[in-house]
Amino acid sequence: MSQSRIPPASLGGLSYLDPAAPEPWASFIEQIERVRPHLGPLERWIETLKHPKRTLIVDIPIERDDGTIAHFEGYRVQHNLSRGPGKGGIRYHPAVTLNEVMALAGWMTVKNAAIGLPFGGAKGGIRVDPATLSSGELERVTRRFTSEIGIIIGPDRDIPAPDVGTNAKIMAMMMDTFSMNRGGTATGVVTGKPVALGGSLGRQEATGRGVYFCAREAGKRQHIAMEGARIVVQGFGNVGGIAARLFRAAGARVIAIADHTATLVNESGIDIPAAQAWAAEHAGLAGFPGAAPIDIEDFWQLECDYLVPAALEGQITPERATGVRARVVVEGANGPTTPAADDVLRSRGVLVVPDVLANAGGVTVSYFEWVQDFSSFFWTEDEINARLERIMVNAFDAIWQVAQEKQVPLRTAAFIIACHRVLEARAERGLYP
Ligand code: NAD
Repeated sequence: MSQSRIPPASLGGLSYLDPAAPEPWASFIEQIERVRPHLGPLERWIETLKHPKRTLIVDIPIERDDGTIAHFEGYRVQHNLSRGPGKGGIRYHPAVTLNEVMALAGWMTVKNAAIGLPFGGAKGGIRVDPATLSSGELERVTRRFTSEIGIIIGPDRDIPAPDVGTNAKIMAMMMDTFSMNRGGTATGVVTGKPVALGGSLGRQEATGRGVYFCAREAGKRQHIAMEGARIVVQGFGNVGGIAARLFRAAGARVIAIADHTATLVNESGIDIPAAQAWAAEHAGLAGFPGAAPIDIEDFWQLECDYLVPAALEGQITPERATGVRARVVVEGANGPTTPAADDVLRSRGVLVVPDVLANAGGVTVSYFEWVQDFSSFFWTEDEINARLERIMVNAFDAIWQVAQEKQVPLRTAAFIIACHRVLEARAERGLYP
């Protein structure tokens, strides 16, 4: 066998790059393949996107409050750094795997390039249920993880941010740990920090705000009035909760919401601030009196203008897609629709605004945060929201135009723009040595 054909390292008998690898990496690979016919001479470089540049697996040992020692597995994947430092969130969830983090890192590469941010793509995570840790244990896990991945992150190398199960407080611990190890304060090593530590105004709401902007822009083309529009949102955290609030504030009717504790419907519209207050107080929506429980499969079939999956990947399967009665799906979550489900939705005339566009508001304001930290000059919230809106609307327009010209779905159009930018940078840089 020639040197170039030696298969990649094997994990548990299955190469982590195996094309038959499980979801969601397989979805990402399939999405990349759909761009192949549109790459022209850059097709020569396409394998770059199927090989994460750097994958780091770390062991995180901590002493638990009861004196026992526990080990957790953590990851940081830098999928591609051709256009700039890595950028992407950190997920704390019991189902996190290397495969999932690789896919999420790949989507960050595409998202950052599609929007035009000067970043590569990265993602990290720990396989842990943060709800089972005391605050001290959570801090020890976070600080040890940060030290372990400290060899590859940094303000000009790779900049983490919050994702599912992490928040501004955890970003503060990460910033402090990295700074302590380095011997000097490095505010720009993470984004999504508290404002007191160089965080940006508007960052927390940014992803939900971007989801709302994308829905509005799609609605203009599909002749959907926001006033009175029917909205269904899965996931009621940072992305789903805030998007739901903004839809409601714009006059839309949020008729169904769901989190990991409950799936709820109220045809006359749910009071979102009240539901948010309930979820914050009761660690979830279960028991919220302002809406009635509904079966999860019925939830996906509710007739609505906008369906916003904003929880986890792989939620809209081909089976569920057959029953979707939304006019537009706006992907707040990363990878919520499988490629096969994408095809079903398209054949049924449902417009899908893809994750790499719809949820890019968060990383866009993370970019603003990073720029503000570097210059130590901070902008007002109005400036931030106005710049965010401009970038999102411009990206939506450009992607829409490519979709029209090439007669492809918005996802493929976004991937075409992004892959061109990444592979052009790759080709310009050339291979070293
Ligand atoms: P979060 O932890 O704040 O909220 C996640 C929500 O999903 C919670 O309400 C949780 O109860 C719910 N959930 C989890 N499992 C569920 C299930 N099986 N069924 C229904 N609901 C479930 O996380 P977030 O930051 O809002 O992230 C949500 C999604 O958006 C993820 O895919 C994430 O990668 C993506 N995203 C987040 C950001 C960001 O800035 N936070 C940016 C881009 C994309």
